[in-house]
Amino acid sequence: MAGNTNRTRFAFFKDRIVPIEEAQVSVMTHAFNYGTGVFGGLRAYWNASEEQLFIFRPHDHFQRFIQSAHLMRIEVRYTPDELVQILCDLLRAEGFRENTYIRPLAYKSTEVIGVRLNDLDDDVTMFSLPFGSYVPNEEGSHVCFSAWRRVEDNAIPARGKIVGAYANSSLIKTDALLSGYDEAIVLNENGHVSEMSAANIFIVRNGKVITPPVNSNVLEGIVRRSLMQMFHEQMGIEVVERDIDRSEVYIADEVFMCGTGVQVAAITQVEHRDIGTGKIGPITQRIRNLFFDVVSGRVPQYRDWLTPVYVMEPARV
Ligand code: PMP
Repeated sequence: MAGNTNRTRFAFFKDRIVPIEEAQVSVMTHAFNYGTGVFGGLRAYWNASEEQLFIFRPHDHFQRFIQSAHLMRIEVRYTPDELVQILCDLLRAEGFRENTYIRPLAYKSTEVIGVRLNDLDDDVTMFSLPFGSYVPNEEGSHVCFSAWRRVEDNAIPARGKIVGAYANSSLIKTDALLSGYDEAIVLNENGHVSEMSAANIFIVRNGKVITPPVNSNVLEGIVRRSLMQMFHEQMGIEVVERDIDRSEVYIADEVFMCGTGVQVAAITQVEHRDIGTGKIGPITQRIRNLFFDVVSGRVPQYRDWLTPVYVMEPARV
């Protein structure tokens, strides 16, 4: 993974931007013991010709972050606008001039033993780091079906980005990697395709682009939503949201995954079967190129998805 935490100098912690060494929690912290935190994952893209760092859809990310917190009875004492402002201040303090990943967390911060969500204090923190690709081969990944099932909404809310639920993602990803695959597709308890360990999935069959619906235990991805809009507006394709069977994936013309980390990555082999030609397909290639143009600010129609970091005001450290 191309994240470099050594280059992180600051964090937002207990209402202030502080040196990263000062952003520490105790081993007794509730969230550390019970997974009672929620998080977000955002990217900011460096545009060299404009000398600008663009954060991709930060308001939408922070809105989902607050909704995840709401599911876990965690109070976030900031509005999405305030969180965007905090993030811009943090990135200006870091001064990154390259692609960057951002991790906000809201968590039960009381140092106490006892499983519950009530009568505990809540805190918000945020840090960022330079970040490249998350999967090694974005133009041709080889994936498997996980033997694990995706966490069920009635066990841990699937549409929340809940810290404890990523034990499920970690099991899925690790078994895939140690078996020689790049990633894994995970089924839900109904036996239908849900998503990847930390990304949404699309298949293409006979010119139709299909993705599992929001009630199939997926995380409601912001890249998923963005691609659906771009398919409609730029390619005249209406994405169909419906259950996908396992066997449909093997015989699909194209398969790709998407998310803030993986960006848009082609899946060209599933369990030693080629998908289509075994090379990235035309629809995947087109939406992938469009995605990178959009996130780096090269498509005027989607500039309002981007928040520029470097404006003519000093960082408030
Ligand atoms: N599913 C899971 C389980 C994830 O962790 C992620 C990454 N946040 C996604 C899907 C993709 O969501 P997004 O496009 O908002 O990054």
